[in-house]
Amino acid sequence: MYTRILVTGGAGFLGSHLCDRLVRAGHDVICLDNYFTGRKKNVEHLMDCHNFELLRHDITMPIFVEVDQIYNLACPASPVHYQYNAVKTIKTSVMGAINVLGLAKRVRARVLQASTSEIYGDPTVHPQPEEYWGNVNPIGVRSCYDEGKRVAETLFFDYHRMNDVDIRVLRIFNTYGPRMHPSDGRVVSNFIVQALKGEDITLYGDGSQTRSFCYIDDLVEGMIAMMEQEEDIGPVNMGNPGEFTIRSLAEMVIRLSGSTSKIVTRDLPSDDPRQRRPDIGRARAALGWEPRIGLEEGLAKTIAYFRDNPD
Ligand code: NAD
Ligand code: UDP
Repeated sequence: MYTRILVTGGAGFLGSHLCDRLVRAGHDVICLDNYFTGRKKNVEHLMDCHNFELLRHDITMPIFVEVDQIYNLACPASPVHYQYNAVKTIKTSVMGAINVLGLAKRVRARVLQASTSEIYGDPTVHPQPEEYWGNVNPIGVRSCYDEGKRVAETLFFDYHRMNDVDIRVLRIFNTYGPRMHPSDGRVVSNFIVQALKGEDITLYGDGSQTRSFCYIDDLVEGMIAMMEQEEDIGPVNMGNPGEFTIRSLAEMVIRLSGSTSKIVTRDLPSDDPRQRRPDIGRARAALGWEPRIGLEEGLAKTIAYFRDNPD
């Protein structure tokens, strides 16, 4: 079916891969971005496609476009970037949600929120199921992102209850792959860039904290499945349930890239979650989705990308 789709944050890491898939499927795609962390380079190969257009816009301002679906991804995702201007980050999440929900209400579009595992904060329940309410510091350095995303979820459900807006809420766990910005600051891109340059690998804390890493292709497939199904509005967790310590990630990156880099330790940033692993039972049941690409395979693809695209 022919669908007009708005992707906010479409020039970013996740958004550009999503735009690729939607354009390839023949949909009419509008990519909205203010280029804070995204790059035109990520979508320039789509510029000649008749069913793709770029819109420079800040999601904190209202938008007027006729669309059938909206994927709301606009928001910096790396701690370094979302803490750079914390007030702007929370405005992007909260006013951005109000603007896309207002648009969805007006044009009767379905709207999907790219929420996050940060909703769970530093979790005391492990692995994290959707029923868990989380353990979030409301006044810490990560709060602009965590609480902004929590309010966005609240707004999605209130617009749904009050105005019957057709919502989907996806809680995305750490995702990585080609087109992460080399100076993005998140762990996978940091370690790969450092390993390829032969620089020290900066391990924060003792590296015993854990994360679960999902490869971009698996995530994009799940996002589209979430948008297209009628059974479950969410929230639905999406991520790879394989759990790794950050130290083991560093060792894996060194091995797979054949690097001579050494691991050095740095202070652990405050409120850094100790552990994180998604319970993906609901995604399996509602979407028939599960990730297919393991960490070694995904890292190898990502290392190859950074070798060919050092900046
Ligand atoms: P990213 O930083 O690469 O992409 C975010 C995009 O949003 C960028 O293109 C940026 O320029 C744009 N943007 C930021 N503020 C904006 C604004 N005010 N108006 C318009 N555009 C704006 O990050 P990503 O990893 O691609 O993340 C995309 C979305 O997915 C984010 O909402 C993020 O919170 C969510 N998410 C990502 C992950 C992950 O591991 N990658 C995990 C959980 C949630
Ligand atoms: N991390 C690290 N070295 C880096 C960047 C990150 O050890 O150069 C750690 C960070 O402290 C955290 C984990 O890796 O424990 C994941 O960090 P990231 O910023 O990728 O995402 P998030 O903390 O939001 O999951």
